[in-house]
Amino acid sequence: MSQIYTRIALIGLGLVAGSLSLATRRAGLAAETVGTSRSPETRAIAREINLVDRVTDTAAEAVKDADLVVLCVPVGAMEAVTKEIAPHLAEGATVTDVGSVKRDVIAQVAPHLPKGVHFIPGHPLAGTEHSGPRSGFAELFDNRYTILTPPPETDPDAVARLRAYWEGCGALVEVMEPDHHDLVLAVTSHTPHLIAYTMVGVADDLRRVTDSEVIKYSAAGFRDFTRIAASDPTMWRDVFLTNKDATLEILGRFTEELFALQRAIRTGDGAHLHDYFTRTRAIRRGIIEAGQDTDAPDFGRVGQRKEGPGE
Ligand code: NAP
Repeated sequence: MSQIYTRIALIGLGLVAGSLSLATRRAGLAAETVGTSRSPETRAIAREINLVDRVTDTAAEAVKDADLVVLCVPVGAMEAVTKEIAPHLAEGATVTDVGSVKRDVIAQVAPHLPKGVHFIPGHPLAGTEHSGPRSGFAELFDNRYTILTPPPETDPDAVARLRAYWEGCGALVEVMEPDHHDLVLAVTSHTPHLIAYTMVGVADDLRRVTDSEVIKYSAAGFRDFTRIAASDPTMWRDVFLTNKDATLEILGRFTEELFALQRAIRTGDGAHLHDYFTRTRAIRRGIIEAGQDTDAPDFGRVGQRKEGPGE
């Protein structure tokens, strides 16, 4: 793969930014990667482990002469970092982000960008429950989707270049409307995370009654919930605060289905339960056939090096 950008600036140096830097290096997609983070601790770790080619103390310095700027901070912090970098962006640069919600991020970022800068919102559907500068790895995006949501008037060459960059990082790229993205993600990621948080919370209450049995006998179903529920609290707080409408819509549907299953259990309607579980099993099969998860029992945990893809 050949070089696509001259200088890539990463604002934020956590899981996603670190993985992007390592994937960029792996494929030689940029002459230089520059990164910054708000805390001196994160910047020091990034320097120590050589996470990017150059760590700067401010976001303004990081974006200087960059032809690609990637905002890799929690969704709720996008507006503040955009205001900080806006006066320092190079003419013709592309600004993108990796935020898990799109409509709200566009509303935060777009009004502050100067003319002559291309804004192409993005979201890699890849993550883990780990965070921080030490958690990134070059393979994070391999064979996982990245969704771009450019406004209709965006320069097609700038979109094609960003698409090529993500493909160079190993991703499959799709273009989508921001609202559609937010609804799809409410179904596939945001609401499942909320349900996992709830289930682990319920078990935590129960633990006080059963005196640690929940942990001791933790079976696969519950363990999978705990992995998801260990995800970064700041990131997920921001996701629910900013993807409110779509999440509430899906939660409403979820609650209706849950009541229907509750009723089937109460009335002993085995046929309903069996039909329902048959339908859901087919969905799992579809995910495996699409190459988005392993067919191995228990997610192939035995002897596995890393946890599976997250978001
Ligand atoms: P992370 O590992 O927790 O890193 C977050 C970075 O943002 C750190 O550099 C942190 O700086 C910085 N930051 C936090 N709060 C900030 C604030 N108020 N102002 C400025 N900087 C701030 O997070 P991540 O998992 O890489 O997530 C980054 C973005 O990617 C989020 O928008 C998230 O929605 C999205 N995303 C996450 C995943 C996932 O599964 N994790 C997947 C796809 C997309 P310090 O360390 O210096 O405090």
